[in-house]
Amino acid sequence: MRFYLAAIAVLASVLLVACSGGDSPAPTPSPAATPVFDEFAIGKPQNRVGVGDVERALPRFETSRGDLIAAFQQQPWFQDGLSADESLFVERSLSFVAGRPELSFESLNHASVTDKLYLHDKLSLRQRDIDLLLIYEPGDDAEAEFALLEAVIPQLEREVGIEWPEQATTVVNGSYGINDYNGEGFIRIDRCCTLSAFVLAHELSHVYWTAGPFWFNEGMADIYATLSLQALNDDPPDGWRGFNADIDSYYAQRKSVVDSAGFPDLPLPNRFASDGLYQAADVFLLDIRDIIGANAFRAAASDVYAASDFARLNIGEKRLEDIVLRYTAESDRDAVMQLFNREVWGDNGEEYRRLQEFEGS
Ligand SMILES: [Zn+2]
Repeated sequence: MRFYLAAIAVLASVLLVACSGGDSPAPTPSPAATPVFDEFAIGKPQNRVGVGDVERALPRFETSRGDLIAAFQQQPWFQDGLSADESLFVERSLSFVAGRPELSFESLNHASVTDKLYLHDKLSLRQRDIDLLLIYEPGDDAEAEFALLEAVIPQLEREVGIEWPEQATTVVNGSYGINDYNGEGFIRIDRCCTLSAFVLAHELSHVYWTAGPFWFNEGMADIYATLSLQALNDDPPDGWRGFNADIDSYYAQRKSVVDSAGFPDLPLPNRFASDGLYQAADVFLLDIRDIIGANAFRAAASDVYAASDFARLNIGEKRLEDIVLRYTAESDRDAVMQLFNREVWGDNGEEYRRLQEFEGS
């Protein structure tokens, strides 16, 4: 597929809009909640019931989303009978809006609905084919956006080293004022950013990175977006026009903001976006990566994700530190622990020791 990737906006401006204002974390169960153990699901990616099943979706959402259902039913293409990808489009649109109380029919561009403005493809990934669906607005360069999505998803899967978690990934363009990952494979992309490789890659990264603390999810989404785009630069697919950063220049840019912006010196869990949460999280994680090495960081990250069991379980800070330390050489252990103490616990190691004692480890 061709790319029309015109000059990507400079990195600094792109970063400002990546999830600024905060994501909606995926609705994963909290550790305190009673986990629903489906022994057949453990260790396997999400396989959600009802994807593309319009017969099931219509009665289910009849009460809550009758307006959207009526709009679909009025369309000649709906009345003619639905193809497989039209069914996916209808069901995903309904599930996107219905599952999110803050969204209304108005959240979807009506022309997207009535004129069937979507692109769909089956992507062949490591273990299975997934559905990639882009619901766009009139005037969007949907082909170019779709090509970016198609390039980034397999690369992200290679970076994490664990199969893509969702059998359907749906990107919905609109006038949201925010880009975010909505859980269950749904991503919202604001009009600002439909062709921003970084923003798209950041939000796609959240298909993996939702199970940790907020700062961790955001930092990992930034880092995996950058690593994936850098890898695509190094081995470009047809038509790829490049992305103007690699992980080292990305780190330098984030570090200079942290050092110069006058953010309060707070532990990561206590920071808001206005306190430099995103930049400080990126710097912290990349400092860890620098100490333990890129390969160890990658292996630790995959282990964190595996420990979340495809985001069915949340991973807290203590567990994160435990896993990182498993991939840290003895000679680097103190440096890693000091970083965690300063940036995560905000102490001299007392909290981590307390949690170790509490767990009897
Ligand atoms: Zn984000």
